[in-house]
Amino acid sequence: AKGAGKGRWRRYQPAVHAAVLQRIELRAALEQAVADLDFTVAYQPIVGVESDATVGFEALVRWRHPTLGLVSPDEFIDVAEETGLIEPIGDWVLQQAIAAATRWPGTPYVSVNVSARQFRAPGFVENVRKELLAANLAPTRLVLEITERLLLRDDEQVWLDLTGLRELGVRIAIDDFGTGFSSLSYLQQVPIDILKIDKSFTATVASSARQQAIVDGIVRLAQTLSLDVVAEGIETAADRDLLRDIRCPYGQGYLYSHPLDPDDIDGWLRFERDT
Ligand code: C2E
Ligand code: CA
Ligand code: CA
Ligand code: CA
Repeated sequence: AKGAGKGRWRRYQPAVHAAVLQRIELRAALEQAVADLDFTVAYQPIVGVESDATVGFEALVRWRHPTLGLVSPDEFIDVAEETGLIEPIGDWVLQQAIAAATRWPGTPYVSVNVSARQFRAPGFVENVRKELLAANLAPTRLVLEITERLLLRDDEQVWLDLTGLRELGVRIAIDDFGTGFSSLSYLQQVPIDILKIDKSFTATVASSARQQAIVDGIVRLAQTLSLDVVAEGIETAADRDLLRDIRCPYGQGYLYSHPLDPDDIDGWLRFERDT
C-alpha cells in the first residue's frame, strides 16, 4: 500500500562522497562544522516485517558541507572518533533525535547510534537522562544502538552504564550484529534488548541458502534469549518475503523507505495511518 505513495517522499541521501577530502582537510573542516553545527539528521523507518507498520525510526547524521552538499557519516565518523569530535556530534544528534520524537504523531521510538567513545565519555548516562527529562520524552521511546566493539573489553563501567540506561527504560540494540568477530559469550550476561542484523547478511538472503541459514539462526537465537530483531538493508520484496518466512519481526531498508527529511516524518506516519 505504501508503494503507491513512494514518489512523494524526498530521498534524504547524501549526494556526494567526501572521499575527495584529504584527511587533514577533513579534520579541520569537521572541527568547523562542529563549531557551526553544520549537520542534519535523517530518519529511516523501522517496520514490522509482517504488518509493514512503522514502529520506530533510526536517526542518521549527515554533514551539511558548504560545497559538497550532504556528506555521508561513513565519510567522517572514523575521523570524528579519532579526534573526539564524535562526542559533541553524538550529543547533538541525541538531542535532535529526542526533540524530533516528541513531535511525531503516535509513539514510534527513535533509535540513535552511539559510538564507543561517546558511550565511554564521563556523564553519558546522566546526559541521556537529562535530555529525556528536558524534552519530556518517555525513556521507552529511545533506543541506543551500540556495537559489539564496545563490549569486546570486559569493562565493568560499560556494563553498569548499560544496566543504568535499561533501568531508566531505554532499550539497547547491538548494531551490525554478526560482523564484530566477537565471541557470542557476551550475550549470556550483557543487558541488551535488540539485535540488528547487519545488511551484509540481509542483502543476499533471498538468493543464498547460506545467508538464509545465518539469518534464521540469528532470529532463533534472539527468540531464545527474548531479544527483538531488526534486519537492516532490506532492498527487495524477495528479501522481505524470505524474512517473513523466517519470522524475523522487524526490518529496515530502501524497500520501505530511504532515510527521510525530518519534515516528512509527520506526513509519513499520517499517510500510513490513512492507508
Ligand atoms: P548503520 O548504523 O549500520 O546505519 C545503516 C546505514 O545503512 C545507513 O547509512 C542507511 O542509510 C543505510 N541503509 C539503509 N537501508 C539500506 C538499504 O536497504 N541498503 C543499503 N545498501 N543501505 C541502507 P548512513 O546513513 O550512510 O550511515 C552509515 C553509518 O554511519 C551508520 O551505519 C552508522 O554506523 C554511522 N552513523 C550514522 N549516524 C550516526 C550517528 O549519529 N552517530 C554515530 N556514532 N554513527 C552514525
Ligand atoms: Ca545503526
Ligand atoms: Ca547497522
Ligand atoms: Ca553499518
